Amino acid sequence: MVHSEVLTIPARKGIAAYAAKGQTIKCINTHGEQVVDTWAFNRNDLTEFMSMEHSRPHLGHIFPKVGDSLRTNNRRPILTIVEDTSGGIHDMLIAACDRYRYELLGVSGHHDNCTDNLAAGMALIGLKAPETPSPLNLFMNIPVRPDGSISFDPPVSTPGSYISLRAEMDVVIAFSACPQDLLPINGKSCRPTEAHFQIF
Ligand SMILES: [Zn+2]
Repeated sequence: MVHSEVLTIPARKGIAAYAAKGQTIKCINTHGEQVVDTWAFNRNDLTEFMSMEHSRPHLGHIFPKVGDSLRTNNRRPILTIVEDTSGGIHDMLIAACDRYRYELLGVSGHHDNCTDNLAAGMALIGLKAPETPSPLNLFMNIPVRPDGSISFDPPVSTPGSYISLRAEMDVVIAFSACPQDLLPINGKSCRPTEAHFQIF
């Protein structure tokens, strides 16, 4: 199998790409502590997209693992996790960050955010997402405690660890290297970094 080049998800920014049914999409946490918001759209109908709320009832758990197929808003499998060396902690609960999130955290003026990054990444290949679906937040560590409370913790992933996803239909895959630098979800140093991906 020919491996494609390794593509960069720039720090704080977004990117989108095509992947054909059966291809593998490998997302690499290059520096180890970067959350990567991830979306997948049906390439032939962008109004069908990977949906966390439609995936959860079929998975029966909220921490996705190898063998799980994420579903679309039409409940069809769109991505299947085939390998994960990152420690298996990913988030299916938290919406993409947006300008309002940062305003509420006290930021005045512009702050990069995953919602804008999705739009910008899609625009780079001439596409427009119909909305900002709730993302699969790769490497994001949101512990859920027995009392139902959650917190925003640093990733458990390590440099170079990765997760591989098989496309179950022709997709547009979009990534955002989350620019959150006010909470420690991208590591205690609160310094967002680049990540990488391959499609092969
Ligand atoms: Zn974000």
